[in-house]
Amino acid sequence: MKPSSVLHIGFDDTDSKKGMCTTFLAYKIVEYLKKEHVQFLDYPYLIRFNPNIPWKTRGNGAVAIKIKTEKPDTIKKNIIEFIKKYSSINEGANPGLVFYQQEKIPEQFSKFSKLALCRLISRNKAKAFTTKNRIETFYLGNGQGLVGSVGAIGYFFDDHTFEFISYRDESNFGKKREISKESVKEMQNLTRSRTFNSFDEEKNRVLIAPHGPDPVLFGVRGENIESVLKGASLVESAEKFAGYMVFRSNQGTGAHLKNELDVSNLKPFSSGTITGKISDPPKIELGGHAIFSIIKNGQKVQCAVYKPTGMTQIASKLIKGDLVKVGGGVRKASKNHKRTLNVEFLKILELEKNLRIVNPLCYACKKRMKSKGKNQDFECIKCGSKSKHKTLEEIPREIEKRLYMPIMSAHRHLTRPLQRIGRSNKKINFSDSEKWFHVSQSMKSQYTKIKIKTRN
Ligand SMILES: [Zn+2]
Repeated sequence: MKPSSVLHIGFDDTDSKKGMCTTFLAYKIVEYLKKEHVQFLDYPYLIRFNPNIPWKTRGNGAVAIKIKTEKPDTIKKNIIEFIKKYSSINEGANPGLVFYQQEKIPEQFSKFSKLALCRLISRNKAKAFTTKNRIETFYLGNGQGLVGSVGAIGYFFDDHTFEFISYRDESNFGKKREISKESVKEMQNLTRSRTFNSFDEEKNRVLIAPHGPDPVLFGVRGENIESVLKGASLVESAEKFAGYMVFRSNQGTGAHLKNELDVSNLKPFSSGTITGKISDPPKIELGGHAIFSIIKNGQKVQCAVYKPTGMTQIASKLIKGDLVKVGGGVRKASKNHKRTLNVEFLKILELEKNLRIVNPLCYACKKRMKSKGKNQDFECIKCGSKSKHKTLEEIPREIEKRLYMPIMSAHRHLTRPLQRIGRSNKKINFSDSEKWFHVSQSMKSQYTKIKIKTRN
């Protein structure tokens, strides 16, 4: 028997706005790996990286697959063919693919991965990292996809979720998806707390299906494999899916907003949090966005709460002196605006008393006294009582010390939904007997347009 080796496979940036999708490529690759009878060591990873970098495709998602095989060389060769075949290179994708043929992932890989969650990392930095660490690479275009590829194999989960993603039959690509809204609503009600972000009740909108030409039919996100499979089984669609795969993911974990940003060196396109006091109270801009500033260590940072987040009403009630923690991405300064933190969550830590100076109150009549003229006393017009001074009145605050989140349809992939606050999934018991991958019989005949080389 040949010795078998552990192979980590990572790839990223194969999709584009017009077509393919990195998770579909992963599904195709797993279908191929099943035929090669490899041993899977974990679920495929779907890792979302910094959502605030400028050149991301839809979700900035990368995939990693961990296997044990006796023929790593054949597998590497064939996977390169898949990347060539299924990437949207002509539509702006810059695919990256990495192989790491070692059992253990070194610690520096996780560090690189963590950085890719909240910073902008150049492709040159990724290329240097792969050379230094003897990671085998393949890329097309400019190679920007190497950042996510390395990040995906190096990802260390301190919390994870799952996503069931079903794919369409090729004959349906580009056609309108017909998914029953009622069934999705019902599914959310039945699996609530075990699945998340399926249906936006405020906007009466289905959130599990994309609208573009990509091969995804729908996806169900949740806490474990049973709940996403259960959720998916409750979705009614006019179209049958051709197959599905379940990914282990960092979606819904808020992983990009765990670090506190350095206000003295606020890097454009970085993500993180700032805790500070409101220094310039909110103004509602044209377009309905709320703009305010916070101050930390003497440094002022402008923050923007955009209208689609549904949080502008809350933000507009902040006053100078309130202590808040805001999380989001740093937008680069331009001609029209300062460097700004685009707010993805708002946590109110302390509320300042909102005081205003008013005419004194007549305690007997419960009426405000009237001024008798400049430098003169105040007098109650009902009973004639007098007072010399104005008083302070406390205006009740209409916001609370708590966490405020955007409405569901404004969530990013990484946004930690309210129902997941305080929850974290750490343990993983991977079992290949679970139904994490499936291809319908009818689809198998269509497989595959790629010539698979079987000899080493
Ligand atoms: Zn009175």
